[in-house]
Amino acid sequence: MLSSTSRTTLNREKHRGRTDRSELYEILDAGLVCHLGVVVNGHPMVVPTGYGRVGDTLYLHGSTGARSLRTAGEVCVTVTHLDGIVLARSSFNHSINYRSAMIYGVARIVEDAGERIAGLRALTEQLAPGQWDAVRQPTKKELAATAVLALSLEEASVKVRQGPPEDEEEDYALPVWAGVLPLRQTWGAPEPDPVLPPGIPVPAHITERRAPGR
Ligand SMILES: Cc1cc2nc3c(=O)[nH]c(=O)nc-3n(C[C@H](O)[C@H](O)[C@H](O)COP(=O)(O)OP(=O)(O)OC[C@H]3O[C@@H](n4cnc5c(N)ncnc54)[C@H](O)[C@@H]3O)c2cc1C
Repeated sequence: MLSSTSRTTLNREKHRGRTDRSELYEILDAGLVCHLGVVVNGHPMVVPTGYGRVGDTLYLHGSTGARSLRTAGEVCVTVTHLDGIVLARSSFNHSINYRSAMIYGVARIVEDAGERIAGLRALTEQLAPGQWDAVRQPTKKELAATAVLALSLEEASVKVRQGPPEDEEEDYALPVWAGVLPLRQTWGAPEPDPVLPPGIPVPAHITERRAPGR
């Protein structure tokens, strides 16, 4: 279960909140990008970035020069999936179908070598499961240039909107089309690097990534 705190308790549209921890994992595991919100030198900064999950920890990484990653401390991370636009009979009631997760916590700069590798592995695997073992491992120099942040998934919320528009009672009689236009993300065909030597096939784990629902 997701334990609700004073920060993660939904105030508006509480019925859209989800409390099952597995729904948090599903949203995180299905995403590729999160938005990392952090205050840097007194100013809020929201950075789109990759991530990976190991159990109840989210890992983020980046250049040691990235300000948002140098500053371990209070952060808020969101992951959002857009599932469709909701076209209502009034402009006021237009909406978006979505699944979204919000995580609060104190980000920790990962120092332990083993945990750093585990976090980096999760980040690569988030993009394409099977990729970490298929490619060259990071060098000491690459590792030294990479900051890895860990964020506990302890304090998190999930909000989901599904279904048709919710119009005003009197508007249902209007001769206006209303409904949902679903939005689906699909992978395209793999595009080999133009300088790829001949004879290297697209690996199965990449082909499988294209399968519907992955
Ligand atoms: C793609 C998308 C588009 C949206 N468009 C709009 C819009 O145009 N206008 C609008 O008012 N709202 C929109 N929302 C909903 C918006 O994210 C907020 O839930 C809503 O505005 C309520 O904000 P609040 O500050 O009153 O939240 P509160 O209910 O006060 O938030 C309290 C706590 O609830 C949790 N929470 C709130 N929202 C979310 C969320 N989306 N996901 C996970 N946890 C959450 C957080 O832990 C937060 O700290 C959109 C959401 C998504 C995903």
